[in-house]
Amino acid sequence: MAVNLLIAILISLSYSKFSHAGSSSLDDEFAVNQVIVSTTGVEFGKSILPRSVLIAALELSDSENSKLENRFFRIVEATGDEALPLSDFDGRNVLYHFMRARLFFQGLEATNHALSKSMTIRIRMAHAYNPVTHFSSRNSYNNARHIPEAIDGQWGPETWFHLPKPSVNWPRSILNTILFSLTVPGIGLTLLPANVISNSNGGLDAAKIPSVIYHEAFHWASDRGDLFPESQVYHWIPEDYANYFGAAMIDAPLRAESEAYAAPHFRKNFDRLKGRSGQASKMIESGAYNDTSFVPSLFWQIRKILNAQLQIPPNAFTLTSFPIVVRLGDQLIWNSIKYLGNNKHSAREALPSDIEPALLKAMDELPQITTAQRSAILEILTQWR
Ligand SMILES: [Zn+2]
Repeated sequence: MAVNLLIAILISLSYSKFSHAGSSSLDDEFAVNQVIVSTTGVEFGKSILPRSVLIAALELSDSENSKLENRFFRIVEATGDEALPLSDFDGRNVLYHFMRARLFFQGLEATNHALSKSMTIRIRMAHAYNPVTHFSSRNSYNNARHIPEAIDGQWGPETWFHLPKPSVNWPRSILNTILFSLTVPGIGLTLLPANVISNSNGGLDAAKIPSVIYHEAFHWASDRGDLFPESQVYHWIPEDYANYFGAAMIDAPLRAESEAYAAPHFRKNFDRLKGRSGQASKMIESGAYNDTSFVPSLFWQIRKILNAQLQIPPNAFTLTSFPIVVRLGDQLIWNSIKYLGNNKHSAREALPSDIEPALLKAMDELPQITTAQRSAILEILTQWR
């Protein structure tokens, strides 16, 4: 009897330990990657550090606060369906930044119904997307993407964060070594290590980089008939806006702001104004539509002029160490989206030349913009043409 009682106590102790292993209280803290802005701005490679924030920020649905799921987002492993546990770093990092982005976009447009759409977010994906079968048998790495809901309703809108995959371009490394050896005889294979390093791609670990998560959150927040409805057809205008808002939310003119998680190929800096002429027509003529640097660089200059802080969206957790700031420039650029289509076509299909008239119309809506700021923006637009 005594032995049985002892066993019962041991079982109940271990059970209670087990049942509480995954639970947390709202004022517990957890670490996520944060972008640290110093007085000199954000520097590549020194900008992302793990920092603690409150569990309350995630607004988790389960009473134990143990699963990465709330009324807007469910974070799952690759092709799975189950919400991941709070202990998953990438999962909670993505959820935290999506919640932050949600407040930011709410600050820009409180009635945006795209923000109440619930969504599955897949992390550590290896499969490419297939519009018919959902998960392609082909693999895709070093990427993140927003996918439209299935026409037959099999799946809703989703955001995918793919696995990173470092690689070395061996043919090019070897070819360069041979070419060097031929031009400078005697050096031979000693150049191979240097060539391997210069032809290696460290990949992109998208789920760890706040600006990349915010880029994807923009696609979710603008997936609306009158803005940028998500479709199978790729277009770069939404990419330009997504890159701008990714940068705006980290308050630095960068995309993929991390040396640790992004190879140089993925990193972009939008700080210097780049003119659109030449670049835009070259891209359109060659059919090589991709995201550009010249559109986000224009937006960034406008943001510098309209730097006034509009608001910090009301939410308890934003009042901790990482407040969300919406600036007047962000408002202008968000408002310009609805004028891009200009009745001729949808905003997605707009051309770089449609951006200027859209910005001018959006400027008329914002009485906070002073005459001096208006002239400064017109000057920037002239330089940009
Ligand atoms: Zn994108």
